[in-house]
Amino acid sequence: MTIDIKNLTIKKAGEMLRSGEVTSVEIVKECLKNIEEKNKELNIFLEVFDDALDQAKKADEMMKNGKGGELCGIPIALKDNILITGKKNSSGSKILENYVASYDANVVKKLKEAGAVLIGRTNMDEFAMGSSTENSAYGPVKNPLDPTRVPGGSSGGSSASVVAGMALGSLGSDTGGSIRQPASFCGIVGMKPTYGGVSRYGLTAMSSSLDVIGPFAKTTEDAEIIFECISGKDKMDATSRDVLSKAEILKISPRKVIGVPRDFLKEGVDKDVLKNFEEVLEKLKANGFEIKDIELPYTKYSLAVYYIIMPAEVSTNLSRLDGVRYGLRKEGESMFDTYKKSRSAGFGAETRRRVILGTYVLSHGYYDAYYNKAWEVRRAIAKEYEEVFKDVDFVLTPTTPTPAFKFGEKSDPVQMYLSDIFTVSANLVGLPSISIPSGFSSDNLPLGALFTAPIGKDFSLFEMEKYIK
Ligand code: GLN
Repeated sequence: MTIDIKNLTIKKAGEMLRSGEVTSVEIVKECLKNIEEKNKELNIFLEVFDDALDQAKKADEMMKNGKGGELCGIPIALKDNILITGKKNSSGSKILENYVASYDANVVKKLKEAGAVLIGRTNMDEFAMGSSTENSAYGPVKNPLDPTRVPGGSSGGSSASVVAGMALGSLGSDTGGSIRQPASFCGIVGMKPTYGGVSRYGLTAMSSSLDVIGPFAKTTEDAEIIFECISGKDKMDATSRDVLSKAEILKISPRKVIGVPRDFLKEGVDKDVLKNFEEVLEKLKANGFEIKDIELPYTKYSLAVYYIIMPAEVSTNLSRLDGVRYGLRKEGESMFDTYKKSRSAGFGAETRRRVILGTYVLSHGYYDAYYNKAWEVRRAIAKEYEEVFKDVDFVLTPTTPTPAFKFGEKSDPVQMYLSDIFTVSANLVGLPSISIPSGFSSDNLPLGALFTAPIGKDFSLFEMEKYIK
């Protein structure tokens, strides 16, 4: 039997597995075949795990014993910054090229318990810093829908793996948009949970007050299945928390009010994106939603705030990569020289840029002017969202100002940073947010609608797909 992985949902595959119509081994073989055929060209996986078929066999056993849940036997790809015991984990960087994880991330533990098949680790921008995977030390990922274009980033490999039929779902991490932006560029669903809604234990830190792990899938129903498995409080991550359960969300009577911050749509947004966005609004209206203009005056500073707080945390988190404790070591004449040589050889240009920027904003004399000021604005942004959510259930914008761009098109870092204009504020405030495919540009490139909900209301996001179809 041939299985059309590119069009198979997790939901459907699960039903087929449980009814015995197909085995996990058959599904995984099909993914491996697609990887074999296309990975050289697309550069999606940095490693395909040699025990994938063994995991599938075990899942088939689990299923036979009636223990298989919704993710049992389902091939899932993991971004290269999520630790799996005994497997390499490089975070897209040369400095960690040969680093082998000594423990499982909390999400990995949960996926293993569910019987999911971890198929491989996916390419990404170095330490999750980027919007195109062009910052990966292992070369960029090509967008399976148009290989002359980027898949988005930083979780571009995870996103592309689902579109290319190499996995049925995947995990990425989102610090400023790195799940939602690549999901939009590849025409799939990508969800960023409430901050702490998924444990960060075993995720290589980029910016600890912003990072969160979340799912990629073809449908919101599939994304929900993955989110349900990986979410929840974890004693190994003090910032983790439970979000409202699906049952609790369903009990809250839906008010169906959507807030649109029109001010954000005035500049720098592609006309196809704007046109598609208006169509989305029309569909929502037709489905009984009230559309309300909202104002978020401080939110226009989101990118500026992000590019102070994030590099500050990056510079702190990456200080442990010094040629002594982890990864690459280049012997120097003194300890300082060893640090310098190891970090110069191990880090790419964007990583070095952010470490320098972060060190600067945290340095004596500048700390108050930049870092503390940015935190004040961050709190003001959080407050204005709190106010807005008294009147609306969701905030809606396009996911990105443009569809997937071509390689090299955004060689100016500031131009690249602008791709996250709509996504970063959710990270600064900790809000759950999802990108749902909403149509195509005139060149037939996928576009996404970005729904953002109040903290803890993650499950309300998965409901929105049916209203914009
Ligand atoms: N593109 C953003 C950046 O470069 C976001 C990255 C992310 O979410 N990990 O920082």
